[in-house]
Amino acid sequence: MKIGFIGLGSMGAPMAASLARAGHGVKGFDPAARAPEGVSACSSALEAAIGAEVVILMLPDGGAVRDVAGRILDGMSAGAVLVDCSTIDVATAREVARLGGSHGIACLDAPVTGGTTGAAEGGLTFLAGGDTDAFARVRPLFETMGSRAVHCGAAGNGQAARLCNNMILGATMIATCEAMALAEKLGLGQKALFNVVSTSSGSSWSMNTYCPAPGIGPASPADDNYRPGYAAELMLEDLRLAQAAAADCDADTPLGAAAAELYRAFVEEEDGRGKDFSAMLPRLLARGRT
Ligand code: NAD
Repeated sequence: MKIGFIGLGSMGAPMAASLARAGHGVKGFDPAARAPEGVSACSSALEAAIGAEVVILMLPDGGAVRDVAGRILDGMSAGAVLVDCSTIDVATAREVARLGGSHGIACLDAPVTGGTTGAAEGGLTFLAGGDTDAFARVRPLFETMGSRAVHCGAAGNGQAARLCNNMILGATMIATCEAMALAEKLGLGQKALFNVVSTSSGSSWSMNTYCPAPGIGPASPADDNYRPGYAAELMLEDLRLAQAAAADCDADTPLGAAAAELYRAFVEEEDGRGKDFSAMLPRLLARGRT
């Protein structure tokens, strides 16, 4: 396939490189990053999009996605698909899909879980919203860049699925860390709590797979001095997107709001920036009730 890839940063570069390695013709554009091996560099987003059957965006935020979509939609070929893999707000994803529709271009929002390691090793999961036929056409590309692609329904639903998932993840990570810190202070200990909870009704991915305590459970960022993994500031961004979406549709999300505020304080007022989001455990262990 002929592919245009716009945004060749930490995530975009390895994703574009894996498409090129699989034999696709990939033209890439990024004003600030070099095209990876196998990807031919363009001097504008429009140049990368012209003639492409699929254009993929991997950009920092909704503003950049709206801006780039506005620059390329006029030049895209009839029948081409615009796939936005960035993590952005639901409202902008739906706005871009409407704009694409007015140009006769099918749009998919397809944010990823899996991070930079997933992007480098083909382990990403894509959560897609938008036209079913467009999803079927792009699916082989998702399976080249990642290991799983889930169609979640209409435009914006990929972003909605991701932010709902990550709101659960942020809240369960905090609850797991709180229980670990409480168990330590009660004299039960973290290892004993892990042994009980990981096989009981309090179990979760945060406890069982990504245990925030060093030396307990499978290897996780806690065993690597909380080097991210998934950085606390990325979790904060997810929780903020969830709160913005909840405000837009009048949903009551008190735990999501509390999780967003805790990660905001951790990242902006304390020493959480640059640490894995599971470093909430040493933060809580170091503090008392006030
Ligand atoms: P990054 O900052 O490394 O890369 C973004 C790239 O976009 C930069 O190279 C920048 O120059 C480029 N860019 C900005 N504006 C542009 C424009 N108008 N035209 C072309 N290129 C432009 O960020 P990243 O870590 O690659 O993240 C990209 C997206 O993936 C974000 O939405 C992020 O939330 C999401 N994401 C990141 C991770 C992660 O672990 N890094 C995990 C999941 C999802």
